[in-house]
Amino acid sequence: MSGDTQHGGLRTPIVAVLGHVDHGKTSLLDKIRGSTVIEGEAGAITQHIGATAVPLDVVGEVAGSLVDPTEFDLPGLLFIDTPGHHSFTTLRSRGGALADIAILVVDVNDGFQPQTEEAIKILADSQTPFVVAANKVDTIPGWQIHEDAPIQQSLEAQSDRVEQQFNEKLYEIIGELSDAGFTSDFYWRVQDFRSNVGVVPVSAMTGEGIPDLLAVLMGLAQRYMKEDMAIDVTGPGAGTVLEVKEEQGFGTTLDVILYDGTIRADDTIVVGGVNGPIVTDVRALLKPRPLAEIRTESRFEKVDEIAAASGVKIAAPDLDDAIAGAPVRAVRGRDLDDVIADVQEELAEVAVDTGEEG
Ligand code: GDP
Repeated sequence: MSGDTQHGGLRTPIVAVLGHVDHGKTSLLDKIRGSTVIEGEAGAITQHIGATAVPLDVVGEVAGSLVDPTEFDLPGLLFIDTPGHHSFTTLRSRGGALADIAILVVDVNDGFQPQTEEAIKILADSQTPFVVAANKVDTIPGWQIHEDAPIQQSLEAQSDRVEQQFNEKLYEIIGELSDAGFTSDFYWRVQDFRSNVGVVPVSAMTGEGIPDLLAVLMGLAQRYMKEDMAIDVTGPGAGTVLEVKEEQGFGTTLDVILYDGTIRADDTIVVGGVNGPIVTDVRALLKPRPLAEIRTESRFEKVDEIAAASGVKIAAPDLDDAIAGAPVRAVRGRDLDDVIADVQEELAEVAVDTGEEG
């Protein structure tokens, strides 16, 4: 179920995870998925193609007293499953970053590393708001684990020595952020997240601080991004190609993150390709089937339409030349030449970027 096809017009903010190799990006995404799967039995997360949706009620359950769901009207958070800045820079929307918010993961033991510096530069250049997840706090010698607890609750239960080390490590990261040109502080001291970066101590292993991380992301999005999230939900869909993939029974397919409007199973779409825009008709819109049903059925389930923000697989003829990072547009009711021109224009940027990266 997409559950997000109402006409309310506020879409889910898209969240990307960046950081140095081995600092815990994958573990963090796994933990967010894991804890929300358990907590979210009522609402439940939904697995999308290439992304994971955590609805507001699940954020509320995981974050406990840190989030009052009645204070929010954004529908939740959509995490892009592929972490790292290659994915971040490839995935663009209308000239900007596809992700609305980012999590920069920094290992508290290693601090800033080359890819941390790179990531921060990319975030600054694309003006993407971000929070820092200061990860692996459980590795501080003497740390007492409080599984899935809010970080301050866990911190209060630690010895003075552990707390002192915790503070030293965290202030080191705050210093490094300052060297990189960003004022930051422990997230609970940040008043204005537009001028200060919130640092959230977490453990992707024990789940400590995960409630805080979800609460901060949700709060940031609600407070500062609500206008950007207002879309014409039923309008012609706009998205970005995550991956071009051969899929048994479907031929070449596109994994797409949809950030605006709706794509329907009978839409004509325009996609960016190596030799310019490709015009084709959707043959099937596919979502992952719930795990329990996969044994007996195909991995995918056909749907009639899907609304932003979401991840979807599009099967259609003539997709062989489509490229990752390229725009996808539903034509619906608009002049085909205008849509082709739109895609062409955006494609020029994608091509330039690919060239720069070698
Ligand atoms: P990535 O390369 O940034 O995606 O990092 P991974 O998620 O693969 O994590 C790298 C290693 O660090 C793995 O062995 C993880 O088990 C470990 N790791 C990740 N997060 C934590 C954490 O919070 N605590 C501890 N103790 N280990 C962690």
